[in-house]
Amino acid sequence: MAEGEKKEIPPEVIERVKKLREEIEYHNYRYYVLDSPVISDAEYDALMRELRELEAKYPELITPDSPTQRVGFKPAEGFKEVPHREPMLSLDDAMEESEVIEFDKRIKRFLNLPENMPIEYTVEPKIDGVAVELVYENGLFTIGSTRGDGYVGEDVTNNLKTIKTIPLRLKRFSEDAPEIPKRIDVRGEVYLTKEEFKRLNEERIAKKELPFANPRNAAAGSLRQLDPQITAKRRLDIFCYGVGYVEGYHFKTQWEILEVLPKWGLKVNPLVKKVSNIEEAIKYHHEIEKIRDTLPYEIDGIVIKVNDLSLWEKLGTKARSPRYALAYKFQPTQATTQLVDVVFQVGRTGAVTPVAILKPVKIGGVIVERATLHNEDFIKNLDIRIGDYVLVQRAGDVIPEIVMPIKERRSGQEREIQFPTHCPICGSTLVKKPGEAIWRCPNKACYAQGVRRLLHFASRNAMNIEGLGEKVARDLIDRGMVQSPADLYYLKVEDFMKLPGFAYKKAKNLYNAIQKSKRTTLARFLYALGIRHVGEAMAQLLAEKFKSLDKLMQASMVDLASIPGIGPEAARSIVEFFKDEENRKMIERLLQAGITFEEEKPEEVPKVLEGLSFVFTGTLKNFTREEAKELVSRLGAKAMDSVSKNVNFVVVGEAPGSKYQKALSLGVKTINEEEFLKLLEQKGITMEEIKNKILKKEAKTSLF
Ligand SMILES: [Zn+2]
Repeated sequence: MAEGEKKEIPPEVIERVKKLREEIEYHNYRYYVLDSPVISDAEYDALMRELRELEAKYPELITPDSPTQRVGFKPAEGFKEVPHREPMLSLDDAMEESEVIEFDKRIKRFLNLPENMPIEYTVEPKIDGVAVELVYENGLFTIGSTRGDGYVGEDVTNNLKTIKTIPLRLKRFSEDAPEIPKRIDVRGEVYLTKEEFKRLNEERIAKKELPFANPRNAAAGSLRQLDPQITAKRRLDIFCYGVGYVEGYHFKTQWEILEVLPKWGLKVNPLVKKVSNIEEAIKYHHEIEKIRDTLPYEIDGIVIKVNDLSLWEKLGTKARSPRYALAYKFQPTQATTQLVDVVFQVGRTGAVTPVAILKPVKIGGVIVERATLHNEDFIKNLDIRIGDYVLVQRAGDVIPEIVMPIKERRSGQEREIQFPTHCPICGSTLVKKPGEAIWRCPNKACYAQGVRRLLHFASRNAMNIEGLGEKVARDLIDRGMVQSPADLYYLKVEDFMKLPGFAYKKAKNLYNAIQKSKRTTLARFLYALGIRHVGEAMAQLLAEKFKSLDKLMQASMVDLASIPGIGPEAARSIVEFFKDEENRKMIERLLQAGITFEEEKPEEVPKVLEGLSFVFTGTLKNFTREEAKELVSRLGAKAMDSVSKNVNFVVVGEAPGSKYQKALSLGVKTINEEEFLKLLEQKGITMEEIKNKILKKEAKTSLF
């Protein structure tokens, strides 16, 4: 490219930059003016990042009004404007350790320092609140303002005066406290505790108002009230972290600021620290991230600042952010995605919880596919619908939850969520105590039923999932991770790591066992479904007769009942099972998860009874009627339902019915159960074989 020749900017880049700016402007407006964002912070950051990268590549595209060139938003109407004596800049964000190391290197390059020379930093938690400036003149709090666009903020003096931890007059609280300066502009972050945030949002939801998306929005919304009375009710608090313009005192380090402010009565976060190099700052980041969930207020990262203030001047600022400080963010905890469906899960106490099935979304490195919708009131008050875009939160060990719907993104195709009137597990009518938000299944045995169903599904002769015992089944259901057995196949190793007593290896083993079970046989699968009257032998028979799940699912009562070995009750139960919408959905999800059926090697059962026909009457000790019929048919004989002259044997059990009389009158040979077994033995079929091979089921008692 010749000197001076302009680099061609592809039109799609120009278009994209324009689009990004429009989008960011809109989200700025939602965020800063309405305190009601419609995307998560992480998604906003991603848009900003993309724009910044494009502008870095094509600097000709930078305009003074680009969102990258300014911070915050101009003051909203209704507030008096307050210019900041020194601009309140915002900080560059880093997500990755490599970016933090680059920040340190850049500083050294800029200052012409050797690369291995350590730089001292201060580190502090980055509070998820709203930045303010407090002006003290001769110790008296005179003006308080928001950051605004960094140069001009909103006058919220009276609102700030309602915060009890903001001193109206600075005092020297200790012997070694410096004299109060003539003027000092103190910077801090106004925030709400998690508890207060929760209380505030519960109040709003109860009033059918949308909750605040995060504590920052709640703090900003509470502070930016035209009526200070409202602010006063919100129990806001503050952490001070820096100074702007100062007259009458000279701070030498950031650490000195953090040490002196409390001596004048200003509140500083107790976790602030001085570190001697960037590696220690990174270590601090990891330490704070670990205790993040235990803190009473929300933080979203740490702030790293060069300690020596004389270096700040040398380093200076870029367009909108200083070179001497960096926000090193934690993994985001929120994202927006689409609500695809809602299922209802029954817990140990019978509580029915609506669970959102989400279009999978990554939050903090983990894919989230399900989130709690809490209860019916939550859904109704916020008017959450299937198809809605929703803000989802996943913080620490807590089950992911829906924060709110984003109604601005509705298409009109959304559907209302129907709360069930009956228990999804046992069918009992749900009950709700007056004043409670939670519907419960009154059937005490119901939860156990869910656990049993899962255990049956995973059992050795069904899907054969090793490591899924009773304790695990309970924990999975308790935590809402599994409602229907199909859910098992959508869990990942990291999901199992949330179970008590599960480290990586155990979680991986269980995950592998579940994956392995996907290759199964139709018979095992049918047995695992837990259809009433369908035991292992019946499942085997169905698999042999129908050979495909599809065909079985379409079979009618008549189709089924005409198969020897399947009585009318079993036939009805099978048809009803496959007609049920929930069951069909479960099967679909199982198949979608990748369950495949292999041809089972045909058991080599000699057809020793070929050409014979049997009728059974009365109660047998070793078999049910169905099993006995199945046994003889597998051995090549015909199992008949009624006695005729053509029948070879009528096997007579306890309390035989009219068939016995008929056999006698027709002169058909009758034998008892012992004789029947002896007959089989003579043909080389032992009880052992019947149990383990032919019927593959424990006999109730053994004669041998
Ligand atoms: Zn129930």
